[in-house]
Amino acid sequence: MAEPLTREAFERARTAAALAARRDGRMLAIFSVAFGVAQLLFLRWADAHLVRATQLAIALPGFGLYIAIVCALLWRLERTKRSLGPVCPQCGGMLRGLSERVAAATGHCDSCGGVVVSPGHADGRSVDHQA
Ligand SMILES: [Zn+2]
Repeated sequence: MAEPLTREAFERARTAAALAARRDGRMLAIFSVAFGVAQLLFLRWADAHLVRATQLAIALPGFGLYIAIVCALLWRLERTKRSLGPVCPQCGGMLRGLSERVAAATGHCDSCGGVVVSPGHADGRSVDHQA
């Protein structure tokens, strides 16, 4: 049986994953809105200044690039959350969403039932020194 995490290590992993997800999510939102608006402005401009074939020759690859970059940012967001988030020391399962909240509240993994957070650290302090 693997050594459970301390409460501090568990919370550190949760916080790191949440901060990274927020940062990457913000970057994704900014890019999506900015590039989306830029495409609309280009199409509006192109309607007045370019022939249809030229419009399509520029707009379609641009849209493809937009989708590719959004997918890459989504992939990066998922990978970051996966690499930083807490993992069950017993089964190696990712503790995300409901699983993470269950582990935080009970100290146990909701998949295997193993101890995730060491009971001595369940309330954030050692029980050895309590009267
Ligand atoms: Zn587990």
